[in-house]
Amino acid sequence: MKHIVCYSGGHSSALVAIEVVRRFGKEQVVLLNHDISSKVEHQDVKRFKQEVADYLGLPITYANIGGLAADELPDQIDVVLKAKAFKVGSGTELCTARLKTEPFMGWLAQNAEDKNCVIYYGFDANERHRIQRRSSAMAAHGYRTDYPLALWTKRTIGQTIEVGINPPMQYDYFKHANCIGCLKAGRQHWYIVYCVRPKLYEKAAKAEDEIGYTIINDVSLRELAPMFERMKNAGVPMSEHIPQQRFWADVKKLGIHIDDVEVVKPCECVL
Ligand code: SF4
Repeated sequence: MKHIVCYSGGHSSALVAIEVVRRFGKEQVVLLNHDISSKVEHQDVKRFKQEVADYLGLPITYANIGGLAADELPDQIDVVLKAKAFKVGSGTELCTARLKTEPFMGWLAQNAEDKNCVIYYGFDANERHRIQRRSSAMAAHGYRTDYPLALWTKRTIGQTIEVGINPPMQYDYFKHANCIGCLKAGRQHWYIVYCVRPKLYEKAAKAEDEIGYTIINDVSLRELAPMFERMKNAGVPMSEHIPQQRFWADVKKLGIHIDDVEVVKPCECVL
C-alpha cells in the first residue's frame, strides 16, 4: 500500500508528511509535489520542502506540468496567457488545472493505477467542506483519501519548528505558500503583490488586458492600482494575516474607500 502525501511546500502538508512517516514508516511514502516556477514560488518555500524531505530521509517526487524541469516551468500567468483564459469549463482556475490537477491525475494513472494507495491532504478540522469535496472527487476516481490534521486523534507534531525546521518566510506576508500572485486570491493578496512584486503585478495586469477578463470579480488590477498606491503611501500593512473585514475597515478609516469587501473563496490548490 502506497501512502501518497500531497506535499505542497506549505506548513500543513509538511506536518502531514511527518505524521504519515511516523505512523507507517517511510518505505511506502511518496512526497508528491508539483514544482512551481521560482518566479512565483518563494525560494524559502523550496528550502522548507527540501529540509522536511531531508528530515524524513525521502526524496521529493515531482509531477510537473509537461514533465518540465524546474528551470523550464511556466508560471500561472504564462499558462493562462497561452490558453487565453483564466478558467476551465467548470469554472475552476485554469492554472490549477494545468499546473497541478492534470499532472497529479497523470502521475496517479501511471504510478498508482491499481489504486492500492491512500492519498493524504493537509486540510484541518475547520475545513470540513473542502474535505468532503476532495473525498468525493477522489472517490469518484476510485482513490481513498485521509486528512491527518483533521481526523487523526493521535497527533505527534504541531509545528515543524519542533524538529528544528522554520516555516517558510512567505508566511510573513501571506497566509498560504501558494503561487505569489495567486489567480484565485482577492484584493488583500494583490495589494501585497502590488507592493512587493510590482513587475509580477504588471504582468498580471497585461494578462487581463490580453484575455479580456479580470482576475478579481468586476475590477481590474489597473483600476485597483491607484487605490493600492494610496494604501502603500498611507502605510497599510502588507499582510494576509489581518482578517479581511478588519483589514478593509482600517483602510476605510484612512479615507480610502473600496466597494464591498469581496468574499474570498479558499484556493483549491492543495498540492
Ligand atoms: S496557487 Fe493560485 S495561482 Fe497557483 S496554481 Fe493555484 S490557483 Fe493558480
